[in-house]
Amino acid sequence: MTYPEFVKGTSRCAHCNTELKEEYVTVRDNHMILNYFDFENGEDNIFCDKYCLADALSAETILIEEDGG
Ligand SMILES: [Zn+2]
Repeated sequence: MTYPEFVKGTSRCAHCNTELKEEYVTVRDNHMILNYFDFENGEDNIFCDKYCLADALSAETILIEEDGG
């Protein structure tokens, strides 16, 4: 697949539905595109920022606790 179809004034983040104005974040990994995203035009693979993408993929920050001894 190519990049998602971006239509100014219409394209919205697939996760939070924010209108996309000047840029978007998209996943380029082939495995992900084939197995995770469903739309050929990429409408579910277009996000407002990397944090929103991480949220959509259930990526999580885990704090590593120092071993206090
Ligand atoms: Zn978003």
